[in-house]
Amino acid sequence: MFRKNSFLLFIVCILVLSLLGGCAQQPPEEAPEDQVQEAADGEKSTDVVVVGGGLAGLSAAISAADNGAKVILVEKMPFTGGSSMLSGGGLLGAETHVQEREGIVETKDDLEAYWYEQQAYSSSPEGFPDKEWVRMIIDEAPSTIKFIEDNGVEFRRPSAFYPETKDRLHFPVEGGGAGLTGPLADSAKEKGVEILLQTTATELIEKDGSVVGIKAEDKNGKTIAVNAKAVILANGGFAQNKDLMAHRVPAAQTHYSVSGKGNVGDGYKMAEALGADFYEEDWIIGLRAYAVEGSSELNGLSWTTGLYTTLEGERFVNENYPYSPLYNTLADKGIEEYFLIFDQTMEGAVTPGIEQGVVFKGESIEELAAASGMNPEKLKATIERYNALAKKGKDEDFNKEPELMVPLTEGTLYALKVKTTQMGTMGGVMTTKLMEVLNQSGQTIPGLYAVGEMANRPFYGRVYVSGSALQIAATTGRIAGAAAAK
Ligand SMILES: Cc1cc2nc3c(=O)[nH]c(=O)nc-3n(C[C@H](O)[C@H](O)[C@H](O)COP(=O)(O)OP(=O)(O)OC[C@H]3O[C@@H](n4cnc5c(N)ncnc54)[C@H](O)[C@@H]3O)c2cc1C
Repeated sequence: MFRKNSFLLFIVCILVLSLLGGCAQQPPEEAPEDQVQEAADGEKSTDVVVVGGGLAGLSAAISAADNGAKVILVEKMPFTGGSSMLSGGGLLGAETHVQEREGIVETKDDLEAYWYEQQAYSSSPEGFPDKEWVRMIIDEAPSTIKFIEDNGVEFRRPSAFYPETKDRLHFPVEGGGAGLTGPLADSAKEKGVEILLQTTATELIEKDGSVVGIKAEDKNGKTIAVNAKAVILANGGFAQNKDLMAHRVPAAQTHYSVSGKGNVGDGYKMAEALGADFYEEDWIIGLRAYAVEGSSELNGLSWTTGLYTTLEGERFVNENYPYSPLYNTLADKGIEEYFLIFDQTMEGAVTPGIEQGVVFKGESIEELAAASGMNPEKLKATIERYNALAKKGKDEDFNKEPELMVPLTEGTLYALKVKTTQMGTMGGVMTTKLMEVLNQSGQTIPGLYAVGEMANRPFYGRVYVSGSALQIAATTGRIAGAAAAK
């Protein structure tokens, strides 16, 4: 048993690390001097200004430069990257040249079918996902993978996220998400894009109904205007803004977010002030769970599919659900924290977990309940029922696969407390397929574009598809950059 659990944990750690690939990165606290804006007269002019330097913004900036535009990109943090840099760096795609090179066969139709299989896990709001948008991303993905490669990223052999899925996730050879955004930032600079760090866009400048630039604030609080023929909002979502979360996705407002700290919905405020139309049914890019910041072993452990209970000690889900539907179950049931219960695991994870107060242990169910605060009767009933179903080889309560119903019978019992966790938002402004922002009358707002998490709602019902967010960011950025440069 011990060996089986340890092996499972090892596999899960790899999965988690591939998803949370860049988390160990320590971004700089100050931007290099030459990338903090210096506009003595408080004004700059360019063809295209991009707000936000994640994957969507960098792709947009490069694409606009490739199409002959002079480009300025403003980023509020002392570094480019956003959530994209923190991500595992996997972009989905079918019929890409990288898959062809590696002999992997998956058609666009296969990928589209998988996308909808995933959506079926949770009920979708009326009209979501929008089939045309989903197909657009799938059709454009091969060109986007090529675009990223042409801008300095080498892809390794695509891989599957879950064993049963196809080898469709394109990861850079090194560095997770930072292995995408680092080379793209370098490429943007080589192509003449001026990147201004620690520069926060605060409002759009409008003239005669068209957007003609932005106002921004530098790190000293000085306001500058960047005049431009077009503005591309690539600010990411609002996962780090408690008020916007409470307003737009109340079910998720207290959940822990591992997204970029700059993702506080600035783009929402800027677009709203100009009368942009927003999707109404915002939702969350959910993650499985998170235990402790910076502990890959504990976070790997939190992804194992043992017995999950509420803080009271009651089982509530098929623990082997993919992470996005699992997140939806947690959100629907109002669960902010829960326990993963196990009887044997890697000592390496348990010891620091006990020290950090997130792993509890007991030599009996009663002792474990006393240590963790669970209700002893409920926990006893839960474990006995779980063990009985495991013995029977059929999970009559939540339909988990029989081979994953491992009874809890081996000596000391442990409970790891984990947080319901999200990594971004689904929402944003309505746009055309060229990513031009629409107003409430359904007309384009001339000069204004939105990309990435700022405009990702039509692609999903309520279930996130692994590798889709980065693909959406890069593809919508690439499209908007080219359109804005014209
Ligand atoms: C831990 C983690 C793992 C993930 N793993 C994957 C994965 O493997 N595959 C996948 O497809 N997706 C993954 N995702 C989701 C994906 O990374 C994001 O949805 C995607 O990167 C969003 O890209 P973006 O460019 O729209 O936003 P971001 O990358 O977040 O960039 C937005 C940028 O805008 C900046 N900004 C915000 N406001 C302003 C302002 N007013 N002025 C100037 N700058 C501003 C922010 O600081 C930020 O740098 C993951 C997310 C996280 C957090």
